[in-house]
Amino acid sequence: MERLQKIIAGAGITSRRKAEKLIEDGKVSVNGTIVKELGAKADVNSDEIVVDGMPLEKEEPVYYLLYKPSGVISSVKDEAGRKVVTDYLPTEKRIYPVGRLDFDTSGVLIMTNDGEFANMLMHPKYKVEKTYFAKVEGIPDKQKLQKLSRGIYLDGVKTAPAFVKLRKSENKKGTSIIELVIHEGRNRQVRRMLEEVGHPVLKLKRERYGILDLKGLNAGEYRELKPHEVKKLR
Ligand code: URA
Repeated sequence: MERLQKIIAGAGITSRRKAEKLIEDGKVSVNGTIVKELGAKADVNSDEIVVDGMPLEKEEPVYYLLYKPSGVISSVKDEAGRKVVTDYLPTEKRIYPVGRLDFDTSGVLIMTNDGEFANMLMHPKYKVEKTYFAKVEGIPDKQKLQKLSRGIYLDGVKTAPAFVKLRKSENKKGTSIIELVIHEGRNRQVRRMLEEVGHPVLKLKRERYGILDLKGLNAGEYRELKPHEVKKLR
């Protein structure tokens, strides 16, 4: 979502000042409704914006799968100048991530300029399954694994049932690898779930997002989604 005057100026129709005047004069509509406030925001790719009778062109929708490296922000810009996920993709389009992975989490991240598609995937109703591999401190016993699978109270609300499996345990190092499949996307959910059962996360990677995995990609690399993949996710 961006301010309307920025979208209009960005489309090359006119300057920012003149775009503001057009808005104030009631010459701009969003999805059929005239918008006169200068603070109003819209999405150039999913909203129908009409300026002085002319519909704004939408960008061709694009869909990418990025293997997000650890140490990168899931955002389009960072005030502190740290690396952001859009640094890894072609830049001409207004691409943004679908949801977010923590700064220290790596793995599958979908990036698109299709707002409708992004909103749909992030809606809890869609229940896209996400598979995480977490390296944790210690080796959880059966009870702990069961507890994780049945649900953990985070901020007073229980997490939905999850598939949980101990994949590897390294007795000497006192660490283990746990696979967790969840369909919710609460803030830092996997880290907080594992912390709650006494096994803080040392490393976290999202291996799968719905039908998509990281096959053929190294950290920092991306590929376009195939039309059938986009269709399947819808
Ligand atoms: N759960 C987390 O804790 N972090 C992520 O980045 C994704 C899921």
